[in-house]
Amino acid sequence: MPQGQQRLQARRADFPALRQTVHGRPLIYLDHASTSQKPQVVLDRLLSAYVERCGNVHRAVHWLSQAATHDVEAVRDKVRGLLGAPSRDEVIFTRGTTESVNLVAHSLGEQRIGPGDEVIVTTLEHHSNFVPWQVLCQTRGARLIVAPLLPTGQLDLDALGRLLSPRTKLVACTHASNVTGTVVDVRAVCRLAQQVGALTLIDGAQAVPHLPVDVQALGCDFYCFSGHKLLGPWGVGVLWGRSELLATMPPCQTGGGMVSTVRAEMTEFQPPPQRFEAGTPAVAEIIALGAAIDYLHEVGIEAIAQQEAWLLAETLPRLRAVDGLRLLVAEGPQVPVISFVMDGVHPHDLGTALDLEGIAVRAGLHCAEPLFSALGVHGSVRASLSFYNTIEEVDALCAAIRQVSKLLR
Ligand code: PMP
Repeated sequence: MPQGQQRLQARRADFPALRQTVHGRPLIYLDHASTSQKPQVVLDRLLSAYVERCGNVHRAVHWLSQAATHDVEAVRDKVRGLLGAPSRDEVIFTRGTTESVNLVAHSLGEQRIGPGDEVIVTTLEHHSNFVPWQVLCQTRGARLIVAPLLPTGQLDLDALGRLLSPRTKLVACTHASNVTGTVVDVRAVCRLAQQVGALTLIDGAQAVPHLPVDVQALGCDFYCFSGHKLLGPWGVGVLWGRSELLATMPPCQTGGGMVSTVRAEMTEFQPPPQRFEAGTPAVAEIIALGAAIDYLHEVGIEAIAQQEAWLLAETLPRLRAVDGLRLLVAEGPQVPVISFVMDGVHPHDLGTALDLEGIAVRAGLHCAEPLFSALGVHGSVRASLSFYNTIEEVDALCAAIRQVSKLLR
């Protein structure tokens, strides 16, 4: 392992959860795609936000409220920087990717999507970026189209190009698959969509934790991610949207915090982002997300991407060498998310047996049933890595798979 990379691996000491034992074994956590572990600085910030900033935001004149408001708004700037967004007012705090997608589907759907229109999703989508569009199309009389994959497992951009037409109102596409880890050329997707005047929403839930992201370079209209997969707390996520679009979109939820004037006969709404943030937000969680973003910068987003690329390159051949194991990986760029199936062994059985060895992986359909249907596979075991995972942990995974497959097959 190159020396600079040892520095990143040493970072595992920052994650108290990794010191646990599970079923009497040291925990090997390989389920980062579900939720990441949290560094101590994030946990400290979460607690200190509740202790030192427990005032409601955007409301009171008292010090606690003002301090909490200041800290929450500072995180909006951090997210703007993380995504390379032009303006802080384009950053909307949500509960996570799912809520971000639903927000756009409801708001845009009401405004722009009707009978005869089409929405395109891809075969790679997580249910969170599939079902809201399907339901929207059903309720608005529009058509949902699912863009196919190439035999390589990558999104078929030529086929997508052929599916696009002036009827296409929006293309919803993942940046990285939560099953195969394949990184989609979303810049190309956005360029194709733009040619027919379609809007684009990119699901960055599996990309932001692993790759530098620049929404302006990608050329998308909306981008979303979840804080809990990015070393941050649960209950907070982000929707970024282009200001020209957000400015004309109706709110999804109404109530306090998003209005400028309320009278019996009519209500005026605030401009974005407040228009889309009705009610009290997850104050402490947003503040702690800011600590997670600071931590990422401190470790180095490029350094994380490089370390994980190295880890992935070391892991893939080790898993391929396990007898009877078939990897569901695509050609081309990939984040460290690796799905596999073992001949004759149900993924849940393999996942449970690995758990007994202290190894946390995910087993099942990973909320991506359309992809599994397309692959003709009934689920997989998924190991998803982070920059501080070690090759020894990967070796332990391979050894455990070999051992349990002898018993299960
Ligand atoms: N999209 C992708 C690609 C995901 O991996 C996930 C979480 N597994 C989601 C969306 C949904 O994220 P959340 O549950 O945090 O809203």
